[in-house]
Amino acid sequence: MFSPVSILVVTALSSILSILVLISLLSHEIAGVRRWLLANVIAIASLMLFAIQGVAPAWLGIVAANQLLAATILLIYEGCNDFFDVRMDGAQRWTGWLMWLGVMAGIAYFTYVEPDAHARVVIVSAFHAACDLAIAGRVLIARPKERPRYNYLFVAGAAALGALGHTIRGAIYVVKPPAEAALLQPGPMQITFLALGILVLPSLCIGLVMMAHDRLAQRLERLARFDDLTGALSRKALLAAASERLARAQQGERDGMREYVAVVDVDHFKSVNDRYGHAAGDDVLRHFASIVRARIREGDAFGRIGGEEFCLFCTAGQVGDVTALVERLRRTVEATPCAVPGGVLHYTFSAGIAAWDGREPLAALMARADGLLYAAKIAGRNRVKAPTAEALA
Ligand code: GH3
Ligand code: MG
Ligand code: MG
Repeated sequence: MFSPVSILVVTALSSILSILVLISLLSHEIAGVRRWLLANVIAIASLMLFAIQGVAPAWLGIVAANQLLAATILLIYEGCNDFFDVRMDGAQRWTGWLMWLGVMAGIAYFTYVEPDAHARVVIVSAFHAACDLAIAGRVLIARPKERPRYNYLFVAGAAALGALGHTIRGAIYVVKPPAEAALLQPGPMQITFLALGILVLPSLCIGLVMMAHDRLAQRLERLARFDDLTGALSRKALLAAASERLARAQQGERDGMREYVAVVDVDHFKSVNDRYGHAAGDDVLRHFASIVRARIREGDAFGRIGGEEFCLFCTAGQVGDVTALVERLRRTVEATPCAVPGGVLHYTFSAGIAAWDGREPLAALMARADGLLYAAKIAGRNRVKAPTAEALA
């Protein structure tokens, strides 16, 4: 039922399927996908050559077939390096291909000079086991730790299974070579390892596609979470983070700490657009956000709630600490002009600060900060308005 040739053909068919699925990812410009595609094309050629091993000359059915399969696994590894943006420099970059040439020399030697099918199996198994291990290691080390683990562990698991299979196969051929040495002789040993092969290559490819899909999901989540112009949190993500902070503060010990919000609005921004153009206005928004992001603490939540209006949520011991922080930001912005095409542009902002009373809804808290922002605008702009410590006591 399971003849070696039928197993090779089924594996080749699964590579065709992998190619068709990987093609769907091409338009998303995900690093590594092109190499994984090429790996599968080469795998098909290799599997076809293995299938005709009985009738083909040795250089085709043995040397070329093995080299192409070795290239397949090496390309998958290199694709993983691309995917995780791991750069190999100098000699490191060529180590895999030098080993690949070594495998070729070994196979040629044990085919033409001193024919020994067992020695060939040992060499090839060692190479595949090394590449599989390298893939598993790369994925485990470089996987983004903040993402769900499943897809990455799936790839590492498939590669580890391949490494284990090849190691056992190589070890068996070193210690006690089986009678049937040629690949296409349908002995139990060949069938077992071919069956493992049929499982590992498609599983690896399915796993790689799963990793690529996780990359796409990551991009979409980032787009939804961050404002793409300024890199600050999007309005939706900011409000969600703010609600979470208030809920946490309500449950936890206060320790004299309190939640604060500062609503910040760039002054006379419309005239920036009118005078210098919309692109310069965008530059100012980016400039402002980068100044703020570089000066707030990790636990603070900073986001853009619309147009040239931003919000900063933070926890502090007293209102004076928050006022001092926003004042520092105001002075920095005032003293740091933004470079725009055709010159530099000085701008300022106004801000209103409010302290959470421990019960009120988020909208009420923000409305109070907004009221103080309005007061700052009326009072002449370029200033920060906050409740007095006495008023909050
Ligand atoms: P004020 O000092 O009272 O805040 O005056 P202002 O001119 O800053 O406020 P106003 O609300 O009159 O104008 C805000 C302008 O912001 C109007 C709108 O065209 C512009 N704007 C909103 N979003 C963007 C954006 O993403 N990029 C740019 N360049 N402009 C934007
Ligand atoms: Mg404004
Ligand atoms: Mg505004």
